[in-house]
Amino acid sequence: MKEFEMINRYLAIDSGNRKDVIKGVGDDCALLKVPRGQRLAVSMDTLIADVHFIADSNAADIAHKAVAVNLSDLAACGAEPAWITLSISMPEFNEEWLASFNKGLKRIVEFFGIQIIGGDTCRGPLSITIQAHGFVPEAVFNTRSGAQVGELVCVTGPLGDAALGLMAAKNELVVPPSIASQLLKKYYTPYPRIAAGIALRGRATSGIDISDGLLADVSHISGQSEVGVLLNWEDIPLSDAAKSIDDEEIVMKAALSGGDDYELCFTVRESELEATRLALETVGTECFPVGRVTGKAGVRLMYNKEELELEHMGYQHF
Ligand SMILES: [Mg+2]
Repeated sequence: MKEFEMINRYLAIDSGNRKDVIKGVGDDCALLKVPRGQRLAVSMDTLIADVHFIADSNAADIAHKAVAVNLSDLAACGAEPAWITLSISMPEFNEEWLASFNKGLKRIVEFFGIQIIGGDTCRGPLSITIQAHGFVPEAVFNTRSGAQVGELVCVTGPLGDAALGLMAAKNELVVPPSIASQLLKKYYTPYPRIAAGIALRGRATSGIDISDGLLADVSHISGQSEVGVLLNWEDIPLSDAAKSIDDEEIVMKAALSGGDDYELCFTVRESELEATRLALETVGTECFPVGRVTGKAGVRLMYNKEELELEHMGYQHF
């Protein structure tokens, strides 16, 4: 068997038989069915070795993360994932690496009940491109542009763990091994908030997934909704692992600008907060109000009773 046929075999996982896949892997095109009353939500991300992931990390984790980050964009819009295409460029044929990649891919594809419907392989520097497709009812598509002054800004979970985990992996942060492994788990194998995104349909007035850090991502809501956001540092949720780190500056930087957390950030009317909290609770997700939508443009942060103008200081300060 030729190398690339072997590679294709490792990537083309038979992930069940979704009824909406008329023709999946193996033909020139996939042929797909979008359910009646639903719209197709599509998102694509490329992950490049040593830019978006550590090249020599576990191949199963690389596969997991490549799928997870794409599904996270669907979660941000409240879409339910259905299919992915996968294109991979790799420097050499390495069956052991592919077998491990296959394991991680199979695990996350099965976890979310999605199907791989096609892809491509070529020789080159290691990089993975995935396009994710999901369904969303037309009327409840979450965008970045619906936030209104007075609403609450909320997140779905602790922030900063992934960035702290990456620092620990690079030996830039010294923490006990048990803490490092908890943090790194968030970095290597995030689980996108799909169920939370669906639970927020019709409740959140705007939404985004936190891939580049809370400040950067909330600034997209602020910019596209043409409103301001005032965050409160004391309300930003931190995991016990993050809280165990003494250096507040490092933890703050990770939680506010670290990225890779793949939690959701959304806005909601204050009168909807309790209903939203309950809706999220039913899918095992918490709801943390971390700030408020304001009429004053830009993203600001309450820290030690002081209002910091982040735009002027630059996010890199954190
Ligand atoms: Mg995103």
